[in-house]
Amino acid sequence: MPLDCLFCRIIAGEIPATIVYRDNELTAIRDINPAAPTHLLVLPNRHIDSISDAQARDQALLGALLLAGARLAQQAGLDGGYRLVINTGADAGQSVHHLHLHILGGRAMRWPPG
Ligand code: AMP
Ligand code: ZN
Repeated sequence: MPLDCLFCRIIAGEIPATIVYRDNELTAIRDINPAAPTHLLVLPNRHIDSISDAQARDQALLGALLLAGARLAQQAGLDGGYRLVINTGADAGQSVHHLHLHILGGRAMRWPPG
């Protein structure tokens, strides 16, 4: 685990966060600066820098990440729809270099995103 990784430290319990789901592979937290009425982040417990760094051995983990995103969106009552987002690299504005899936919902969204 990179010692300077914010999300690794949250997963390890060293930095507080509102944890809404946890299992052997994944941790889901509330985003500290929500961009929508519901804004959750699903984190693999094992550090991966970004989706570009995922390997074939991560296939099941990535499937679990997406399924958790859909399940947590449903549990949050986002019946009108929601968006699952993985920002990757500088152009996409990735600011925390530990792979995470955003779950955004509770308001209408535009396309294309900014
Ligand atoms: P990204 O820009 O895709 O890398 O997303 C990083 C997200 O992490 C942003 O939406 C931040 O608001 C969120 N974030 C940063 N620090 C924390 C924290 N301590 N607890 C929860 N979410 C955080
Ligand atoms: Zn990490």
